[in-house]
Amino acid sequence: MSGVDLVVAGAGGGLAGALRAASHGLSVVVVDVDEHFRRGNNTSMSTAMIPGAGSRWQREAAITDSPDRFVADIMAKTHGQADERLARALASVSAPLVEWLADGVGLPMELVTDFPYPGHSALRCHTIPGRSGRAMLDHLARAASGIDMLVPARLVGIGDGAAVVEYPDGAREEIDCAAVLLATGGFGAAPDLVRRHLPEIADATYHGGEHASGDALRIGAGLGAATAFMDAYQGHAAVALPAGTLVGWATIMHGAVMTDRAGDRFGDETCGYSEYAAKLAARRGDHGWIVLDRRIHDACLPFQDFRDTVESGALHWAADTGELAETMDVEPARLEATLAAAGRAASGTASDPFGRTWWEAPLEPPYAAVRVSPCLFHTQGGLVVDQHARVLREDGTPIAGLYASGGAAMGVSGHGAAGYLAGNGLLPALGLAYLAADHLAGAAG
Ligand SMILES: Cc1cc2nc3c(=O)[nH]c(=O)nc-3n(C[C@H](O)[C@H](O)[C@H](O)COP(=O)(O)OP(=O)(O)OC[C@H]3O[C@@H](n4cnc5c(N)ncnc54)[C@H](O)[C@@H]3O)c2cc1C
Repeated sequence: MSGVDLVVAGAGGGLAGALRAASHGLSVVVVDVDEHFRRGNNTSMSTAMIPGAGSRWQREAAITDSPDRFVADIMAKTHGQADERLARALASVSAPLVEWLADGVGLPMELVTDFPYPGHSALRCHTIPGRSGRAMLDHLARAASGIDMLVPARLVGIGDGAAVVEYPDGAREEIDCAAVLLATGGFGAAPDLVRRHLPEIADATYHGGEHASGDALRIGAGLGAATAFMDAYQGHAAVALPAGTLVGWATIMHGAVMTDRAGDRFGDETCGYSEYAAKLAARRGDHGWIVLDRRIHDACLPFQDFRDTVESGALHWAADTGELAETMDVEPARLEATLAAAGRAASGTASDPFGRTWWEAPLEPPYAAVRVSPCLFHTQGGLVVDQHARVLREDGTPIAGLYASGGAAMGVSGHGAAGYLAGNGLLPALGLAYLAADHLAGAAG
């Protein structure tokens, strides 16, 4: 194949980089190892929530926000651990990114105003109708139909100004290129790497793309790239059993509670869904329950994932706590006490024993219980990048022509699971890809 400006490895968030580079007039080739990437990668599995601090939709809704405020939220959620330069670069590009997705790519972006996500001090998550990553990725892939796509083909190496790709029959091809964007995802699908770097969640179910096998780490290591935040991850405590669909944390933010398998609450659920996965995994048994009511059910229907959960039959309705206890197979008196205490906190007649202060309203019968399991969604550590998404060596110098985004790169979630803010998976995935394209095109500010 004759030379191109950019090879994008990975057709998840990487597609944003491919589209942005093409819009600058650069020649681009996209390679993806998975012929079903539209249905299998993390971007397709997401709920399509992307933060945008200072967007026009926020201004229309009279919401005060800014990149500075978003950076402050990231630094607060990560207890100062996140790389502030990267956080600032992503916060600054977040509003231009969501506006470009609307104006340049044609996605029907809208601001989520029906509930707040934990840790965001302003309503700043943007999404598309249906809140479906699959619909978002389908749209990106259609928009990229004029871009050369080699699928299935795996990037296996980079050297001498060429990207080396391997086809399923073992044949290899070198694509001469000025630059490569590693957008191959994280390492959640590599059990050995997960056990080494993320032991606290290694026994939980992995609920992400099967090709997130850490290829960027191997390729980057061969080129002398540094890595950081390898112990960071996005967990989730609200995946329904047995269907494996996402119940979603909107249930919690609208007032639902989570119990362990014995019917006891065990914390302030509104602290965040990522860290709650490890908390649930540490409780007795392998599952917990989300208890909601009709009002919460109706409020969550805008989410395609929640509708899928309802259609799967995962919600078990009960007229009262006695029936609910039977469904959940817990002691009735214990569940009664749990829900009574939560009800007092939600109605403001007593403080919550776990310190929860965000409740929309007390739960009212009939109740629904959903059995949930703690999961690993996505890893948040990877290759060290600068504010232009350039991959850096240990000494801080950039490796010429090498960029990384999304799970391939380090994120802005600090260490562990608790620093993850909603949207900070897709923002580095699409945002770093966008910044890489701008830098390569010489358009960076
Ligand atoms: C259920 C779920 C819900 C989520 N919801 C949200 C959300 O609402 N908001 C948010 O911000 N984050 C969310 N996340 C996290 C978010 O989806 C990820 O952080 C983000 O999609 C990562 O994008 P990516 O481009 O790095 O990886 P991916 O989207 O996984 O894309 C990587 C691609 O690279 C391909 N690939 C791998 N290796 C190679 C190789 N060597 N050569 C060529 N191709 C290769 C893969 O096949 C894949 O298509 C969610 C995650 C899950 C699992």
